[in-house]
Amino acid sequence: MGTARCEEYERLQVEVLAALTRIAELTGAQLDAFRRNDEARFMRIDKQLENEMGRKERAIGAARQHAEEHGCQGGKLGSE
Ligand SMILES: [Zn+2]
Repeated sequence: MGTARCEEYERLQVEVLAALTRIAELTGAQLDAFRRNDEARFMRIDKQLENEMGRKERAIGAARQHAEEHGCQGGKLGSE
């Protein structure tokens, strides 16, 4: 049933959330570097953002795959 909670799915959602939070933080820092014209810092953050984007995509993929195979979330992501 849709109301059943799955620990593994929740763990994967926490990973998505952590990556999204990190992306939001890095985006704020990059905006700051952009405004200050700090190109070195801008580029360094850009690289970190790339890594976090990859991490987020993998976490979303893993959550979707798990939900599909386990049939625990009806394939929905981010639904309460
Ligand atoms: Zn599950």
